[in-house]
Amino acid sequence: MNAAVVWFKRDLRVSDHAPLAAAQAADAAVGLYVIEPEWLASPEFDAQHLDFALRCVAALRRDLAARGLPLLVRVGTLPQVLDAVRREFAFTRLLSHEETGPGWSWDRDRAVARWCRGHGVHWQEWPQTGVVRRLRTRAGWAARWQARMDAPLLPKPATLSGARLEIADLPTLAAPGVTAHDRALPAAGEAAAQALLADFLAGRGRDYPRALSSPLTAPQGCSRLSPHLAFGTLSMRQVHQATEQAVRATPDPVLARSLRAFAGRLRWHCHFMQKLEDEPAIERRHFARACDGLRPGDVEGGGAPFGEREYALFEAWCAGRTGYPMVDACMRQLRATGWLNFRMRAMLVSFAAYHLWLHWREPGLFLARQFLDFEPGIHWSQMQMQSGTTGINTLRIYSPAKQARDHDPDARHVRRWVPEFGTPDYPAPIVDERAALALAKQRLFALRATPQAREEADAVQLRHGSRRSGLPPSGSRPRRAGGGSRSATPLQQELFR
Ligand SMILES: Cc1cc2nc3c(=O)[nH]c(=O)nc-3n(C[C@H](O)[C@H](O)[C@H](O)COP(=O)(O)OP(=O)(O)OC[C@H]3O[C@@H](n4cnc5c(N)ncnc54)[C@H](O)[C@@H]3O)c2cc1C
Repeated sequence: MNAAVVWFKRDLRVSDHAPLAAAQAADAAVGLYVIEPEWLASPEFDAQHLDFALRCVAALRRDLAARGLPLLVRVGTLPQVLDAVRREFAFTRLLSHEETGPGWSWDRDRAVARWCRGHGVHWQEWPQTGVVRRLRTRAGWAARWQARMDAPLLPKPATLSGARLEIADLPTLAAPGVTAHDRALPAAGEAAAQALLADFLAGRGRDYPRALSSPLTAPQGCSRLSPHLAFGTLSMRQVHQATEQAVRATPDPVLARSLRAFAGRLRWHCHFMQKLEDEPAIERRHFARACDGLRPGDVEGGGAPFGEREYALFEAWCAGRTGYPMVDACMRQLRATGWLNFRMRAMLVSFAAYHLWLHWREPGLFLARQFLDFEPGIHWSQMQMQSGTTGINTLRIYSPAKQARDHDPDARHVRRWVPEFGTPDYPAPIVDERAALALAKQRLFALRATPQAREEADAVQLRHGSRRSGLPPSGSRPRRAGGGSRSATPLQQELFR
């Protein structure tokens, strides 16, 4: 008998779902979602992630039930859960999507592969983004991305031969011992994701290129699809194809132009995830090993852990009490809402890396817990890029004062999130900007000039660099300080943005 388990992970939808489509050929099938202790114990995890996942799972369970498929939801390690499920349902196939996740998820996948070999279960995996497993070269990657995104969407299965199994009520947050959080989450589940996408494409995205930089306009003007892409309530292919379709259909040239800009960002998603897929160590180690030990906190790279001074700086940054109002406002907005626009995320990291001279790992873990959309491949690539440790990207230092002038000229954002600004309760700047940046530049320029750094840069470019214009060589288009036309070496391309 062909008996299948469809293992749902970060793909909590029924449409454009290859494992679910394959389950249509099974004589009997069940869906499975596992709350893994390794996830709950990981330093990137926050209660908001499980809360959002469970809301998506509740919607998924209803959608699957309507098609005749029960969705089991279990807490435990994968081998334990698979053992338990197999006692109730003698399955022969495990169907799932590939995942590009943190180290614990790779270990988990190895354990699942061993378990399947040991129990004669055939495990089949499908890609669900543009990420290519076992990629040998970045040459041709963009064409493969395009081909995958243009492939026909898989329709929702009409009916499935669901096995008759008892499904218990969904666990609450407290069941696996997770304490509640106080963030208001966006609407979860596939229908909510589709509605959000449709609303953006129908007109909300019209101002996208202008709205995305300011923390005042970005919450409304950006798509806000990132949690849905992270939890897979939408596939990247669905977003890509719906966007192309909307560009063709709209008579409004402004909307069409804005949606084309948005479509470009979708490629970036997979481009950055591919880096973690190709080199899982980048969640802990520098792309450019020449940077090892450069900043305090780089324990993996042989550097010193944070001392008392660094802890104090780090805590002030986390709390939004650095004395730099734009930094503090953005951090507080993020902590309250679980989302921040790209430019302000980059500014927060640049501040931690250059002004405070902190290694990116601890700030990155803290931010991962704040971002509802935490996506490891994008996150760790961006953490390193904004900290100047990839070896190939332009060093980019964001000036909080300039960001405030450009994107919050009336201080509305600052007043909203830092009401005590301008009163004796607001702290003085925790570092002297001029002195801190002079030291940071001196250290980084000296490092980048070493033969080791130059050699390594070529290797990193070969392995991870994009081969096509339209992809982001450095996270967004480089602009030279002062806007001059003089040609600049990478070392001179220091930016104050
Ligand atoms: C330090 C740092 C950490 C980040 N961590 C994450 C993360 O954990 N998860 C995450 O999804 N994004 C991350 N980003 C990228 C970006 O900030 C978010 O994707 C974006 O703000 C999400 O909002 P949105 O869906 O409204 O984006 P939109 O602007 O509407 O873009 C649509 C989609 O395109 C993709 N995208 C947009 N910008 C980027 C980018 N610069 N790099 C890669 N993909 C992009 C995302 O999938 C996004 O959902 C990070 C950026 C920085 C600087």
